[in-house]
Amino acid sequence: MGACAFDLSHYRELLEAAEAGGYRWAEFDRQPQPGDLFLRHDVDLSLEAALELARLEHELGAHATYFLMTESAFYNLDSHAGRAAHRQLRQWGHRVGLHAVHPHAELDERFDPVIAWHNPEPEYMSEPIAGAVNVMEAPYFTPGHYRSDSNAHWREGCPHEELVGGAFDWLHMNVHPVIWAYRGESMRETMESMLDAKRAEWLEYLANDRIDLS
Ligand SMILES: [Zn+2]
Ligand SMILES: [Zn+2]
Repeated sequence: MGACAFDLSHYRELLEAAEAGGYRWAEFDRQPQPGDLFLRHDVDLSLEAALELARLEHELGAHATYFLMTESAFYNLDSHAGRAAHRQLRQWGHRVGLHAVHPHAELDERFDPVIAWHNPEPEYMSEPIAGAVNVMEAPYFTPGHYRSDSNAHWREGCPHEELVGGAFDWLHMNVHPVIWAYRGESMRETMESMLDAKRAEWLEYLANDRIDLS
């Protein structure tokens, strides 16, 4: 296995590592059991990046929970592309939770009853939520059972080797799709790649709206 790059080929290796370690794809609908891997994706910036990871997971038989926003400045879940992305995630067998902006925790029929707060403050991060699982409440958020790639940095190291070796009794792994779907040696470069892709998408939307781009 090569260096721990934040790209799709190492993401594939991470998923294969989990398979090799005998982990089972778990959903936030019951207490963690030995061998569970709760694969979580907070979709902050790009539905397209989410779909890239979702397709790869589907190909490898992996299941994740995608947390989608209804209040994002970067995408619109009610748009044609937003509805198509939601439908596709469901078709590939993934779960869909709400990536909520505090204190708005309004679930509707699009979401499973599970919530991940966007950029939470410590005061409410792990507080129970009426009618829904909070992914950052106990037991899902427990020291030694949580790894996150926030800002393209695994604070406790990339977990691929520990996954292969079955080192975790169970694990909640938080993976942000844009970091893996877009290229860049730094977060800045990765964001530039995403902005290039968004510019191309927006040009297509403009053409679809019959804007004269000649
Ligand atoms: Zn790695
Ligand atoms: Zn977020």
